[in-house]
Amino acid sequence: MDYSIARRRMVEQQIVARGITDQRVLDAMLTVPRHLFVEAGLQSHAYSDGSLPIGEKQTISQPYIVAFMTAALGLQGTERVLEIGTGSGYQTAILAKLAKRVYSIERIGAFVGRARKVLDQLQLSNINIKIADGTMGWRQQSPFAAILVAAGSPDVPAEYLDQLEVGGTLIMPVGDKEQQNLLRIVHQSDGSFKREQLLGCRFVPLIGEQGWQVD
Ligand code: SAH
Repeated sequence: MDYSIARRRMVEQQIVARGITDQRVLDAMLTVPRHLFVEAGLQSHAYSDGSLPIGEKQTISQPYIVAFMTAALGLQGTERVLEIGTGSGYQTAILAKLAKRVYSIERIGAFVGRARKVLDQLQLSNINIKIADGTMGWRQQSPFAAILVAAGSPDVPAEYLDQLEVGGTLIMPVGDKEQQNLLRIVHQSDGSFKREQLLGCRFVPLIGEQGWQVD
């Protein structure tokens, strides 16, 4: 099955139509085969305008949200990026196309093997994934030029701000379990953090020491 037409339609109708203009992000979304990141029975829905279940009560994020969050980081290709919540590995693949190296953390071990397999198949070799509580960040690899968190948290874990380099950007959903706001935080040259609320959204919970308790 050739999904390239479905992918082009996804980019035009869901992403360009909603105002994303970053050509590098659009090219990455046109290239990465999203259907490989969902189970066989859901592949025909892989390019539809929503999130999809990936097991363990988790979801692969809606294409528009992946594009929006990625565009909000303004990646140039030189960055080391921290991603929290590998899940299917789809967002990881998009980031790997646009940055120098991606460090991704997932708390559910079963996802990591699956994600690695697809990412290897796509010959994306600039990715490190580990199984851990991502609310603590990845201190040994810090600082990061960009941090993207794909699960919602009541607050911004302090470690993320600590591990974000000056000039770096963090994007994450913050709010209650039902609804969040996508927050963008930029580490300014005077050491302060500029915060903006970009979009209402709904993510699965970030579970860990600095997030929600296990549900
Ligand atoms: N970007 C992924 C989104 C997966 S959903 C995709 O598009 O497929 C969010 C993921 O965050 C889930 O896989 C969940 O297990 C993971 N997660 C939740 N809390 C976490 C934590 N503290 N550390 C690492 N991963 C976490």
